[in-house]
Order: sequence, then structure tokens, then C-alpha cells
Amino acid sequence: MPRDSFAIGPVRVRAGAARDLEIPITRLITGADVGLPVRVLHGKEDGPVVWVNAATHGDEVVGVEVVRRLLGALKPREMRGTLIAVPVLNVLGVMTGERYLPDRRDLNRSFPGSARGSLASRIAHLMMTEVVAKCEVGIDLHTGSDRRSNLPQVRADLDDPRTRELASAFGAPVMLHAKIRDGSLRHAARERGATVLLYEGGEAWRFDEWAITAAVDGVRRVLTTLGMVDPVEEEPPAPSVECRASGWVRARHTGFVHLDVELGQRVEEGDRLGSIADSFGRTLRLVRADRAGVVVGRAEAPVLNGGDAVVHIATPEG
Ligand SMILES: [Zn+2]
Repeated sequence: MPRDSFAIGPVRVRAGAARDLEIPITRLITGADVGLPVRVLHGKEDGPVVWVNAATHGDEVVGVEVVRRLLGALKPREMRGTLIAVPVLNVLGVMTGERYLPDRRDLNRSFPGSARGSLASRIAHLMMTEVVAKCEVGIDLHTGSDRRSNLPQVRADLDDPRTRELASAFGAPVMLHAKIRDGSLRHAARERGATVLLYEGGEAWRFDEWAITAAVDGVRRVLTTLGMVDPVEEEPPAPSVECRASGWVRARHTGFVHLDVELGQRVEEGDRLGSIADSFGRTLRLVRADRAGVVVGRAEAPVLNGGDAVVHIATPEG
């Protein structure tokens, strides 16, 4: 018995085939239609239905490249199950070069959305009804924002055994237990019963190769664990460092910052992380670690105001 075709939007995708479609979102002032680009890879054999999406925030382009590379390497004829890829969820944000939507709303606070709500709410609703509702597992790819870079990390509800298993399989350097944020894609999808991983890595508006590679490998390992694709021969990644809590060290002075720490570096409480200087280069303040842990994020902007976030430290378990 051949596998049933997969229905999405106005199309049906045959088993063993891939299909691109655009699900209508809205019409621009010029009269041009804007749609959500989606590619479905409907595997030849039965298996789970999974989505991977990028650019929930319009400036977070690392995931767009991750999806491109994944799609280039996957063949539906050799796959079990179905992958729904949404490379640019916040289409209008990507178009206008903005993190948010033209109505200033944060798409990741607009879930589950509604068909007659704001533009953000409509895109959220479309994603929920056309994609999430059909899936049992989802991966939401993010990037650091506001001129900050993130160590490749999975943020997920590690208290849920299934989520934890897939987060471990991803094999990012760090997995961080993260409480659900109301209005987020992750929260709304959880409510519908999906297992969701959120990936963070790299810097907004950059194709950071290390963040792209970590995510391409991580998503592939998750698909392998789910039995959708055959394993590739590789050295198993070092186990993710599990962290339950994290916090930002903030600038205690306005000035030019020089950081001495790299992403992934281990620090002890009180360690020097960098310094803040005035325009003549005189040191005004040292930046010190307020806790022991792993550096999972850092400011990339040289000019900081007092109170700005400088270094993000996550505390490993045990
Ligand atoms: Zn984001």
C-alpha cells in the first residue's frame, strides 16, 4: 500500500515527493500578494511529521541558511515521515529588514493568533493551522538579537522526557532549560501537544558559519533519532552541557567595551570578563562574572550604556 498523499494549503503532496507552496497571508498596498513560503518533503514511507522554521524574528537569518542546507541534503524518496520547512516565517519582517512586523508586533508573542487578528496574529494562526497542527515535533531556529551573539544552544522544557531526549540528540554545546513564554510559537505548539526545540545561535544579520553548521548537524541528528533519515557516520558530538538557569552581566558604566571572553568559555564568579573605557581609552570599570558558568551570549556592540547586557552566563547542573 503506497503512503497517502499529504494535504497542505491547496495542494496534496505525493509520497516520495517534495513540493513548494505559498500560503496567502495578505496583500500589500501595491496590490501584490504576500504568502508564506513552505516546502513539504513527504517521505516515501510512514514516520513522524516534523516542522522546522526560521526567522520568527525578521533579523534572525542564521536559520534561513540552515533550512536551505537541510533541504539541499534531504531526499523524500529516502525519507520516512514528512518534513514541513518554513524558511522565513516572518516574511514581512525579512522583507523590511525588521525584527518585528510592520505593525510593531512581535510574532513570537502573537501565538496562537487568530484569522481576524492583527497581521502578526494572522501569520501565527496560519502557522498553527497549516503547519503545527499537522506535526508532532517542531524546531524553531533563532539567532541572537540586538547586536549580541549566542553560543549554539537548545532551549527547551528539559523536565519533559521526550523533549529532553530530542534536545540531547541535537547535540548543541549547551542545552538550557527554559520556561515557556506565553504567546510564543513554542508555547502554543506545546499546548497542541507537539514536542518543540528552540535553537539559538549566532548573531542577527550574519551568516555565522559555526552557528549554521551546529544547527544543520543538530536538526539532522534529531531527524535521525526520529527514524526519518539514515544516520551519517560521524564522531558523536560531546554531550550538551545542561544548564537550568542563566543571567546577563550588565554594564555598570557607559563606555566602550572590550571583552576578553569567548562564547563557550567557562568562567568562575568574580573572573574578569572585560573592561569598559572612555573615549581616551581610560578604564572606567572592569566587567566581572557574577556567577560561575558557561558564556552563552555576549554583546558585539562596542558602545554600551550603563545597564546594557554584556555577557550571558548559564549555570551548569550539579
Ligand atoms: Zn528570535
